[in-house]
Amino acid sequence: MFKALLVEKDEGGTVTAAVKELSEADLPHGEVLVAVDYSTVNYKDGLCLSPNGGGLVRHYPHVPGIDFAGTVEESSDDRYAKGDKVVLTGWRVGEAHWGGYSQKARVKADWLVPLPEGLSTRDAMAVGTAGFTAMLAVMALEDHGLTPEKGEVLVTGAAGGVGSVATAILGHLGYQVAAVTGRPETAEYLTALGATRIVARGDLNETVKRPLESETWAGCVDAVGGDMLARVLGQMKYGGSVAAVGLAGGAKLPTSVVPFLLRGVNLLGIDSVLQPFANRQRAWARVARDLPMDKLSAMIQPAVLSDLPRLGADILAGQVKGRVLVDVN
Ligand code: NDP
Repeated sequence: MFKALLVEKDEGGTVTAAVKELSEADLPHGEVLVAVDYSTVNYKDGLCLSPNGGGLVRHYPHVPGIDFAGTVEESSDDRYAKGDKVVLTGWRVGEAHWGGYSQKARVKADWLVPLPEGLSTRDAMAVGTAGFTAMLAVMALEDHGLTPEKGEVLVTGAAGGVGSVATAILGHLGYQVAAVTGRPETAEYLTALGATRIVARGDLNETVKRPLESETWAGCVDAVGGDMLARVLGQMKYGGSVAAVGLAGGAKLPTSVVPFLLRGVNLLGIDSVLQPFANRQRAWARVARDLPMDKLSAMIQPAVLSDLPRLGADILAGQVKGRVLVDVN
């Protein structure tokens, strides 16, 4: 028997989440059984834990947790053997499939990535999907020609999970990082991570009035979307790129094509869920190399399974700072 956070729906449609004892026979099919060490709390986990499952969870009872890291216990797939350290993000695990808020998980071998040298299961979940996606965003900006000499890079939603890791990675790589936050009290935290300038959310989340403003940012990692992304597009330097990661401020993009046509701005879509294996491996190796572990420690808020219903609501309210590290044991 082992413990998991089980979300159940009663006949009246009321959804409740509680830590329950499960057996291996309760787990779904898959080639690899993993003893989970850590999971975390991402924005999507907040949605999955919400009363209607955020439109993502279709079947109850359900075990949420969109990512986890742990040790292989059994594998019928040659790529993995007992004792291997692995990480899982994406593939709709924790949404359509049972996820990481559990001491054991059974999953497809295709969904796993072996942990790179130098990264523990604890480090991997301190990074989590949010941090892994921040790394994908930085890689996409680099692939489109961003270098530190090109100028300041903007990070929106900077005190959140994606933003905190993006700030730390970019700072470590020698970039000037302008961090946008709606929480002025996080300025010291962001500066310690690597931000060289703090930008107030209010300066950027007004509706676009002019399609082009002065050329300010060489690149941007955007976790917010909506009006803020629209404003940022008009402030990009000639040929600069924005990596669109999230929608914490809205899914709409109320802008025009002018920044693309007159300034050659690139809008790069970042998806972490269906990334091919080779790129996942490349991103985790880059995390191990380019994210200083002391910076990672400063971002961590520890938690246990029973804290998750509260933390799910907090992340949807934009109240989680940095990364939550869930010790499921
Ligand atoms: P967090 O809640 O940790 O961070 C989001 C941050 O955005 C908040 O901390 C806050 O930062 C800012 N924010 C919140 N609400 C607003 C608002 N109304 N207007 C402007 N800024 C706001 O979430 P994550 O970092 O985990 O995820 C960020 C986004 O990225 C989410 O939308 C998530 O779904 C998406 N995502 C996408 C992935 C992909 O594959 N594309 C993978 C992972 C995440 P501050 O307080 O500093 O202002």
